[in-house]
This record gives sequence, C-alpha cells and structure tokens, in this order.
Amino acid sequence: PFDVLIVGGGPAGAASAIYTARKGLRVGVAAERFGGQVLDTMGIENFISVPYTEGPKLAAQLEAHVKDNEVDVMNLQRADKLVPATREGGLHEVVLANGASLKGKTVILSTGARWRQMGVPGEEEYRNKGVAYCPHCDGPLFKGKRVAVIGGGNSGVEAAIDLAGIVGHVTLIEYDSQLRADAVLQRKLGSLANVQVITSAMTTRVNGAEKVTGLTYKDRNSGEEHDIALEGIFVQIGLVPNTEWLKDTIALTPRGEIEIDSRGETSQPGIFAAGDCTTVPYKQIVIAMGAGSTAGLSAFDYLIRLPAE
Ligand code: FAD
Repeated sequence: PFDVLIVGGGPAGAASAIYTARKGLRVGVAAERFGGQVLDTMGIENFISVPYTEGPKLAAQLEAHVKDNEVDVMNLQRADKLVPATREGGLHEVVLANGASLKGKTVILSTGARWRQMGVPGEEEYRNKGVAYCPHCDGPLFKGKRVAVIGGGNSGVEAAIDLAGIVGHVTLIEYDSQLRADAVLQRKLGSLANVQVITSAMTTRVNGAEKVTGLTYKDRNSGEEHDIALEGIFVQIGLVPNTEWLKDTIALTPRGEIEIDSRGETSQPGIFAAGDCTTVPYKQIVIAMGAGSTAGLSAFDYLIRLPAE
C-alpha cells in the first residue's frame, strides 16, 4: 500500500506528490489525464514569478518535477469508487475503472473541475481563440475590446463587473427572464456605463473567422435571432467539480465540492482534498498548488501520529 495515494494529477495533485515524496513517504498518483486543466490552457500570465508560460509546457514541467521525486505515477487511470478505512489507521481503497484497486494509509483527492459548456456550434472551435472561461486568467487579453459574458448568476455578474473595468464593453446574456445574482452584485452591475444586460436570451452560435467575431442569440420571447459583434465570450454557466464518484462516501456541498477544513482534511479522517474539486475559494493554478501542498503536509502530520505497526 501507499502511505499517500493521490487521485488526480493537476497542479494540486502534483504539489501533494512532491511535498509528500520529499518526506520519504511511499507516494502514488492515479490520474485520468496528468496535467489536468492546465493541458487545455494556452497563455498563462498569472503563475507568480513566471510572467508567461503555456499550458502544455507547464503540464510537462509539473510531470518532470513529480518524476524527479520517487513517485509512482499511474496516468490514464480513472478512479470510480472510494472505500474509506473502517477503522482509524486502516487502509483506504480506491477502485479504478479498469477494476484494479489501490490502497493508501492516506488519500488526497485532487480531481479538479470542469467548466460547463454552452454546447453550441463554434464554442469548441474558438476555445482559446476568443471563447474563454476564466476572467481572472484571460480578462486582460481583451483590454479595450468588446466581450460577452454568458450567464447571470453570481459568477457571471462578478465576471461582468470585473471585465467592465478592463475591456471596452460587456454584454451580459442571461437565459432566464431575470438575473439570478445577489442583489448587491446586480446593483453594482447596473451602475456601470459600459455594460448591457440582455435577458431571455439563448446563445445559439459562436461566430468567427480566425478568431471570434461575434455571437448569435435567440430572443426567447419573440423567437427572433440577433447577432452581436464582439471579440471575446466568457462562459460563466458553472464550474462542475469532478466528484460524482464520491457522492456517497465523503461530505460534499450541494454543488458537489468536497468540504475541507483549513488543513485540507475531509469528513473522513486520513482523507484529504485539494484544489478545484474542493470548497477552496477561487479556482486558480497557484491556489491549487498551495492547497495541494497543505493537503500533503497534513497527510504527513496524520501519518506520524498513527500508532506504530
Ligand atoms: P485539475 O487541473 O482539474 O486536475 C484534475 C486532475 O484529476 C486531472 O489529472 C484529471 O485527469 C484528474 N481526474 C479527474 N477525475 C478523476 C478520476 N475520477 N480519477 C482519476 N483522475 C481524475 N488558472 C490560472 O491560475 N491561470 C490561468 O491562466 C488559467 N487558465 C485556465 C484556462 C482554461 C481554459 C481552464 C479550463 C482553466 C484555467 N485555469 C487557470 C484554472 C486552472 O487550470 C485550475 O484552477 C487548476 O488546473 C486546478 O488544478 P487542480 O489540480 O485542482 O485540478
């Protein structure tokens, strides 16, 4: 068995692996796709101390750094089930999709999240060419330009307020007849001169040539289609944690985020979690790395307190 069994090989899992391997522990990482969301990212300009890098390059460096340490990396392995230990100090089991099972004295869950997509023509094609999901990451790329934000919940309205301070003009598009964000956010949004809100609107298409040139939406009252010319589209219709497989074993919030305390521990002793799959506020690479380090050190603390075998 592993001392530390990590599920997920994004920035959080990589940080947990490096921190725990450097304690001399037996560490394994099972990951469906080592690198995680970073693999889908183009330019990264907020990885502190590295002014510019690109996702695939950072993912390769994450893997190289992990492999510099004594870590058993099991790539292309999806976990399907977690069976927590039945007694303190017992082994936790992770059952993989291929039927194999891995065991660990501690487990760190770092399975990340995925942005909910609109699922309209052009969205995939123009991903990273105008279609974006993270205002903190990509907002500055649209300085002075016209953008749309899709989604009028808290994250959409927060994104619109954030972007309004950077870009030239923001059009917020909401499917429902009214915004769902908190009143205080809606008031702030309403006070901004360069923001237009369109409700009862269903985005039907992303238009582009080399890059995004606009979007088409359908007015849900009249049924008419309208085109808007713009350079960027921020999709803010939800970040879904990859925790469906954990539903019955550890405490999740109604949105599916793993509940952790300030040390990264979950509702099950000896099972820790880090990064985008958890309740950690703000989902970013540096934050996931910090959280992964915290979870790794907490797993170490837990292990040194177990009674000797
Ligand atoms: P992830 O990166 O999501 O990694 C999750 C890992 O778990 C992967 O290895 C995955 O394959 C694996 N996994 C999932 N389910 C299972 C399972 N059941 N069994 C086994 N393995 C599983 N952040 C920034 O700071 N700056 C940016 O510029 C930036 N740009 C972004 C651009 C895009 C397009 C996207 C999508 C995200 C961007 N982010 C950016 C966010 C950043 O990528 C995430 O916050 C970060 O990757 C989270 O790390 P994580 O380790 O928690 O999860």
